[in-house]
Amino acid sequence: MGNPKAFLEIHRQEAGYRPIHDRIHDFGEVEQTLSTRERKLQASRCMDCGVPFCHWACPLGNKAPEWNDALYKGDFELAYQLLNTTNPFPEFTGRICPALCEKACVLNRFNHEPTTNREDEAAITEMAFQEGFIQPKTDIVRNGKKVAVIGAGPAGLAAANDLNHMGYTVTVFEKNEAAGGLLRYGIPNFKLNKAVIDRRIALLEQEGIEFKYGVSLPLTPSKGSGDTDAQQLPLFLERAGGEAFDAIVIASGTPTARDLKAPGRELKGVHFALDMLSQQNRVLAGMEFSKDERVTAKGKDVLVIGGGDTGSDCIGTAHRQGCKSVTQIEIMPKPVEGPEDPQNPWPEWPRTLKTTSSHEEGCTRRWNINTLEFLGKDGKLTGVKVQEIDWKPNPEGGRPIMVEKGKPEIIKAELVLLAMGFLKPEHPAYGNNVFVCGDAANGASLVVRAMASGRQTAQKVNSFLSAKM
Ligand SMILES: Cc1cc2nc3c(=O)[nH]c(=O)nc-3n(C[C@H](O)[C@H](O)[C@H](O)COP(=O)(O)OP(=O)(O)OC[C@H]3O[C@@H](n4cnc5c(N)ncnc54)[C@H](O)[C@@H]3O)c2cc1C
Ligand code: SF4
Repeated sequence: MGNPKAFLEIHRQEAGYRPIHDRIHDFGEVEQTLSTRERKLQASRCMDCGVPFCHWACPLGNKAPEWNDALYKGDFELAYQLLNTTNPFPEFTGRICPALCEKACVLNRFNHEPTTNREDEAAITEMAFQEGFIQPKTDIVRNGKKVAVIGAGPAGLAAANDLNHMGYTVTVFEKNEAAGGLLRYGIPNFKLNKAVIDRRIALLEQEGIEFKYGVSLPLTPSKGSGDTDAQQLPLFLERAGGEAFDAIVIASGTPTARDLKAPGRELKGVHFALDMLSQQNRVLAGMEFSKDERVTAKGKDVLVIGGGDTGSDCIGTAHRQGCKSVTQIEIMPKPVEGPEDPQNPWPEWPRTLKTTSSHEEGCTRRWNINTLEFLGKDGKLTGVKVQEIDWKPNPEGGRPIMVEKGKPEIIKAELVLLAMGFLKPEHPAYGNNVFVCGDAANGASLVVRAMASGRQTAQKVNSFLSAKM
């Protein structure tokens, strides 16, 4: 254990964000870092609880007390080794995990000053890269079996990494031009610098994983064809990969965003959030788009529909693109403010009001707002008709009833971004050597959950194929 009294003497210290006036003009990561001395002091606050709720709350089962202790004592190599026993890519979660573990930390219960696990995780990993502790494994003994992974998001990468280390020959098929899934083409660079993904992919390649880009596998049943694509999949893979695979892991995420089919939806200026977010990340990667293709907030009043994290990423991106104003509306009521929600008390994740770095940069936020109609002139969006509403308890139980309040009003907007979540994909009945993981299996969630699901799936594939060896 770290310093037994540190939690009484040292306060939680977050590295915080770069000043708004500085960060708003670029897409560099907004989060700062503490000095090594301050970082060790933060790690010393971990009490190594008899029952570590942080471990329970982390979907990967990360052993925070163990690596915090090694970090406190300055043994960064051991800290990384411990972290890496459960977390294959801590440089991702260290930057963008909402830190379920910290909400479950006993210190959060004690005085709302939990340990800084997420930042500690990022710091340990960056030190490990800097010091050369992270090297490709060159002693993997191959077992002669081949596995195809479809989708190079965090779930597919985690599954591929574990299977590769177990000795399988792994090929990852990805429809995009580079790996990372939503890490690369959803999450903005100001939260996750894409060089961090490139660095990890280079390691995976050096360890023997093959990546084939620009290959979209047929995962949904094709209309009018007698065959289902579940039957076509192995054939397609054989053609794409030039070989047969013993097992297939589908980690294709949630490709369909939830739409809002209000009148005027077809107007120019109404887009899905990812149209803007993924294009912006591609622009930063050097891709060019014509003026007509470009989805940009420059000089516009922007309305983000959807109060969650994707909406928040749209706000930060709109600011950096030079928008005139941003408003975010949400149909559900405003969450409770403060560190706790009595409806789901510690150690559960509190569904309280979240204010992100993007919100801090400036935004009007409104709740209990329903969207009625997109308004336009000459085919172009000019505003959105909305209505304040209330939610009344349903006397028959179930979902509360929406009731209108006041008069409809118009919010001026030349750009609307729909950030209302993603539909959970449906899969045809695949053969017993096909496994589905990550968001593709569970619906839209978190990077840490996708990685945990990828790891569990690798175990299932191994059990299935080991039984045949
Ligand atoms: C804007 C945004 C911000 C987010 N921010 C956070 C955050 O801060 N923290 C957090 O924890 N989570 C965040 N999330 C959620 C997180 O990104 C996802 O839960 C996670 O990426 C899911 O991982 P996955 O591997 O299952 O799927 P994805 O990341 O979606 O990866 C799926 C991959 O499969 C590929 N693919 C799909 N179909 C095919 C096909 N037919 N053939 C070949 N390849 C295919 C896709 O191109 C993609 O690369 C965010 C999500 C969004 C949209
Ligand atoms: S992955 Fe997330 S929940 Fe798990 S230890 Fe890291 S910050 Fe906490």
